[in-house]
Amino acid sequence: MLKYLIKGGTLIDPSQELLGVYDLLIEGDRISRVEEDIFEPEAEIIDARGLIVAPGFVDLHVHLRDPGQTYKEDILSGSKAAVAGGFTTVVCMPNTDPPIDSPHVAEYVISKANCYGLCRVLPAGTITKGRKGREISDFWALKEAGCVAFTDDGSPVMDSDVMRKALELSAQLGVPVMDHCEDNSLATGDLNEGEVSALTGILPRPPEAEDVLNARDCILSLYTGGHVHLQHLTTSLGVDIVRYFKEKGANVTCEVNPYHLLFTEEEVLRSGANARVNPPLRKEEDIKALRGAISDGTIDCVATDHAPHAQFEKGRVDAAMPGMIGLQTALPIMLRLVSEEVLSLSRMIELMSVNPARILGIEGGTLREGAPADIVLFDIKKEWVLNEETNFSRSKNTPLWGKKLTGKVIYTIKGGRIVYKDN
Ligand SMILES: [Zn+2]
Ligand SMILES: [Zn+2]
Repeated sequence: MLKYLIKGGTLIDPSQELLGVYDLLIEGDRISRVEEDIFEPEAEIIDARGLIVAPGFVDLHVHLRDPGQTYKEDILSGSKAAVAGGFTTVVCMPNTDPPIDSPHVAEYVISKANCYGLCRVLPAGTITKGRKGREISDFWALKEAGCVAFTDDGSPVMDSDVMRKALELSAQLGVPVMDHCEDNSLATGDLNEGEVSALTGILPRPPEAEDVLNARDCILSLYTGGHVHLQHLTTSLGVDIVRYFKEKGANVTCEVNPYHLLFTEEEVLRSGANARVNPPLRKEEDIKALRGAISDGTIDCVATDHAPHAQFEKGRVDAAMPGMIGLQTALPIMLRLVSEEVLSLSRMIELMSVNPARILGIEGGTLREGAPADIVLFDIKKEWVLNEETNFSRSKNTPLWGKKLTGKVIYTIKGGRIVYKDN
């Protein structure tokens, strides 16, 4: 049996309130011991002195574009980017071509990912057939095929009765329904409504487009008991809405994207179409509210919404496909917030590993003895640049392209195997 002994690292595992210098022994695909000083002559040693050792990151929102748009990304390139970013599990969105609205597409994704064996790729199935917003997909069959969530991401579910029925099913199945909350009748423009949209003459996409659907979903969750997970929260009022309905006892969780914690709407003046995302980058006061909400627990997790697009799809801002890549930049952005004392390292790991695993109800997100050996080792000080040599995604649409970043994954271990090693 393959054994690895991770020696002398600083272990941080909020799932068992563990923080300190410990050794960790992996036997086969599981974590077998966590102690102060382990001696195991048969194990290969990984020197972790000076590194943080944490449960592998779990990203419950990525776009791998496979099947159908593999010129942007595919399951192999996306898996490579994921493990280089410290992620051992990702949930891929079903807005593929064809969409993941039937078991055979879900099975294709799972078997292709297993074939490479780099990262655990768990598909989300669509809420509605063909993502058309009308007829609910066969949740039972999709769950049976391995789907861990349901979402029409990229589009909202506009019909409230369809959403209510989806949440009733969610309550029966114990599977979260994730919604891309932007009301189509309001979300017609490309940039946040404000000075930058006025200055550039680009049509606005006001924050209330997001807030009205966030509130509706929380209300439907409260009445049905179904688990709604709000994707990419960006507004200050959205934070208040979630806080209010959590206090009421609604079964609601939510995520924030690292880039919504970092960039304001003004980024589009510097980065052009690479800063064009849905929902759009907002204002300083929204960032402040989101940052408060990740430290006080209102926001449950960080998700990248890794959204690769080809260069030709990122020309003019008002004609560009929305989204940024994000799997390899999530850790450096979050570490920047740690250095600015917005949150602790321990809370960061809760948001990136422990909580997303809990929301999905999957194994992982912990370094407990007996758990799968899904582990990330990272250096909080190492500087690097995202460029042609370091990028694993097939796309490069991010304002951080070519920029110096601080914080680097050194090893990613999935199921007891090293799936990424720096240099
Ligand atoms: Zn979305
Ligand atoms: Zn998305």
